[in-house]
Amino acid sequence: MGIVSQNVLAQDTSIYQKNQVFDPTFLSYGGTEFRSADGAPGPKYWQNAADYSIHATLDEKDTTLKGDVTINYTNNSPDELKYVWLQLDQNLFNPDSRGAATTLVTGDRFDVKGYTKGGYHIESAYVTYKGKSYKIDPVITDTRMQLRLPFTIKPNGDKIDIKVNYWFSIPQYGADRMGRLYTKNGVIYQLAQWYPRMCVFDAVSGWNTLPYMGLGEFYCEYGNFDYYVTVPSDMIVAGSGDLQNPTQVLTATEISRLDKARKSDSTVFIVKENEIGAASTRPLNKGMLTWHFKMHNSRDVSWTASKAFIWDAARVNFPSGRKGIAMAVYPVESQGYDAYGRSTQYLKQSIEFYSKTYFEYPWNSAVVVAGVALGMEYPGIVFCSYRIKRANLWHDVTHEIGHNWFPMIVGSDERSFMWMDEGMNTFINGYASNSFNHGEYGDTTNRSILMMGRTMERAKDPLMTPPEAISLRDYGQYYSKTAVGLNILRNSVLGPDRFDFAFKTYIKRWAYKHPQPIDFFRTMNDAAGDNLNWFWKEWFYETWKLDQSVKGVKYVDDDPAKGALITIENLQQLAMPVIVKVTEENGKTQTINLPVNVWQRDTDWTFKYNSTSPIASVVLDPNDELPDVNRANNSWQNKDGK
Ligand SMILES: [Zn+2]
Repeated sequence: MGIVSQNVLAQDTSIYQKNQVFDPTFLSYGGTEFRSADGAPGPKYWQNAADYSIHATLDEKDTTLKGDVTINYTNNSPDELKYVWLQLDQNLFNPDSRGAATTLVTGDRFDVKGYTKGGYHIESAYVTYKGKSYKIDPVITDTRMQLRLPFTIKPNGDKIDIKVNYWFSIPQYGADRMGRLYTKNGVIYQLAQWYPRMCVFDAVSGWNTLPYMGLGEFYCEYGNFDYYVTVPSDMIVAGSGDLQNPTQVLTATEISRLDKARKSDSTVFIVKENEIGAASTRPLNKGMLTWHFKMHNSRDVSWTASKAFIWDAARVNFPSGRKGIAMAVYPVESQGYDAYGRSTQYLKQSIEFYSKTYFEYPWNSAVVVAGVALGMEYPGIVFCSYRIKRANLWHDVTHEIGHNWFPMIVGSDERSFMWMDEGMNTFINGYASNSFNHGEYGDTTNRSILMMGRTMERAKDPLMTPPEAISLRDYGQYYSKTAVGLNILRNSVLGPDRFDFAFKTYIKRWAYKHPQPIDFFRTMNDAAGDNLNWFWKEWFYETWKLDQSVKGVKYVDDDPAKGALITIENLQQLAMPVIVKVTEENGKTQTINLPVNVWQRDTDWTFKYNSTSPIASVVLDPNDELPDVNRANNSWQNKDGK
């Protein structure tokens, strides 16, 4: 009831100011030679490259990972580089990290839950330039490492090799992105943020050195990965990319079952429940085994190892005719049709849907791993909670693999703009859910839009707020508000054809590149052919709310047969197109769509409806397409029966 009385008050006073929404200064600056005004990479767009060669050994006794990484780094920029920056993400788990300092006393999802041994131990760093090697004393600040060079990397394609020897203790709970899970048949290790990697040097910020503090994810350079992980021989490893040495690490039975899976749309077991831990599943029964993987044109790689895994797989069919493989590894605790027994199908069918609808998945394999992380994405490998089932598991798998489109293919800067990956991914997830198994887990109602109206009432931070500055109570909006906004643009502003063409143009233009928000906004404006700056401003930069209302109905010359003059009003600051359903007393109904541009005129707007009898009712947004915060004033009923 309290809400109703508030609404009555609000009805009288609109706070709407049209020049705030239709703001000629917003995005009014031009394109550059690096980023064109139409939103495409400019003629002089450049990007640096980093190819990685990594060797790492898992020591179960000490719970450490020890390794070395060699990075072949190419400076394609027009600038000389006198130093390079690397990301040391494991340093988040150092008790003195900035992330630890800014974690609530009560803890949060991106915590380490009391682990005190975390952080990288950098044993040495070398750079090799023009055949000469130099040992460098690294300058380490929190999760960043600077290597000051005794030479200058030249612009336009000069290269250096960087080699770092390192080790770290594997946290049990690694900020919900990696860690260890203790199961009945052994520990599941999920290794991510497991090697020092290049910060991105770009034409927007130079070196991107924002620290890793928990919520804000990653901004990584593209390159080819060649990596070797050495683990106890009784473990199964699954990782990003293609396994290079199956005959050394798998048995003949496993290889033949994998071949069968590559030809099968239904799921095939590679390691069955009753084979877990059996000597017959391993080609070697003592010591260590090295698993070798390669991944082409990726921004990261991750992997998992355990002796507790059930392993299954099925074929993935790509639109081009190419075939791939989807796999799942999970402990007995997660087995069953209600749980991970269907996870390979969730993964396979998600990849097929996103490939067909948006952009073909460029890699050959993908794997879902049941473990300690609730839900975390990496190229070709996703970590989902071992505990979840049914719809929750579907949504987790399709979301985490959906990240292979945003940000693994479209390589946005997650640490600065979390909505660009979480929100666009959540948007495409909705369509994947509606498509899977005749909508088994789908939702074709506009429930999320109605819920968004309530969320926006309490929202304090706009979507452009960086992850480390947003309230942990509000960060869900990166996902939901972005997805709802894109759905409004698609279904209520542009229509599916224009939206989808523009959205796919954005993906194609920025695949394997580093788009900024403006590149998305401009591509959508340009390819859909509408100036949507009003929408970008109000939805992404502000916390405005929407409240459309029907103010009143009059008749031309007081005669319903001559037509009705319907007045609507915009009470809050957000502007949206208007969808009006008019019902006449003679039973005739009509839905009228007014463009958002009516709100360029004034706070209220009167339009003529060609009535032939008295109006019985006027209803705004009859199908719940807009997140109106007060739906009580959306309808007008003829009370005097005139
Ligand atoms: Zn996500």
